[in-house]
Amino acid sequence: MAKPAFDDFLPDALQLRAHEPLVDIGANLTHESFQHDLPAVVERAHAANVTTLILTGTDLEHAKQAATLAEQHAGFYATAGVHPHDASHWTLALGREMAALYAHPKVVAVGECGLDFNRNFSTPAEQERAFEAQLALAAESGLPLFLHERDAGARMRDMLNHWRDDLTDAVVHCFTADKETLYGYLDLDLHIGLTGWICDERRGHHLRPLVGDIPLERLMIETDCPYLLPRNLPAKMKGRRHEPALLPWIAREIAHWYGVSEAALGRATSQTAQAFFRLPDNTQESA
Ligand SMILES: [Zn+2]
Repeated sequence: MAKPAFDDFLPDALQLRAHEPLVDIGANLTHESFQHDLPAVVERAHAANVTTLILTGTDLEHAKQAATLAEQHAGFYATAGVHPHDASHWTLALGREMAALYAHPKVVAVGECGLDFNRNFSTPAEQERAFEAQLALAAESGLPLFLHERDAGARMRDMLNHWRDDLTDAVVHCFTADKETLYGYLDLDLHIGLTGWICDERRGHHLRPLVGDIPLERLMIETDCPYLLPRNLPAKMKGRRHEPALLPWIAREIAHWYGVSEAALGRATSQTAQAFFRLPDNTQESA
């Protein structure tokens, strides 16, 4: 089978090793592009000092796969939820299956769930129904939320506002919106996840002056791989598949715009992720 979209060859010489063990809070490792070489992907993540991965579960099937992978690997954890794109598939029965997954010891968050009014693959009404049900599941389970929001900031704040007192913690993953939306989220005591979007000089520049407004103890970092390959990579790596081993490149860019050292950013974001997802302390240096 040809696989023209991704090239799994990642030259060691170009790999950047993080100063501090990093936590990638958004890795879609159940994506089909990782099927043929997952052991090598894991090995490279460890070589880059990315020691802990939160695998994103975007529907029931992927959430189950993510939980199974997490059982098999130390330092792997999983989220379980229904992405707003798939919200039209939400049923009560599906909600009950999700609730069962929240008892799994390696499932650490409810999500990815939320609102995406940018593409509307499910209608806004379907998205709100599925999101509301998952807010209730988060409140019931006491697990933190892993949120997705695109072009729906006002509605998202509204819905979260109603539930906030019943929820533990929530992170808006892959934050890409404006200052007003950011401040609204911070007012709700939410955490913010940043991806390689900030490395994109075409569409990420508005984030750069905003980064410093996110308190370090509310900030976490993620690849969202295989999506969102950072654009600050050396030229030779352009067009390749994104993977957890490349998280240090994102950390470097965020540290630059935040005005802190890469080590300080790594330490802070890892500590925050540890506390947010209630992980056991296993971010030892590896390899
Ligand atoms: Zn997302």
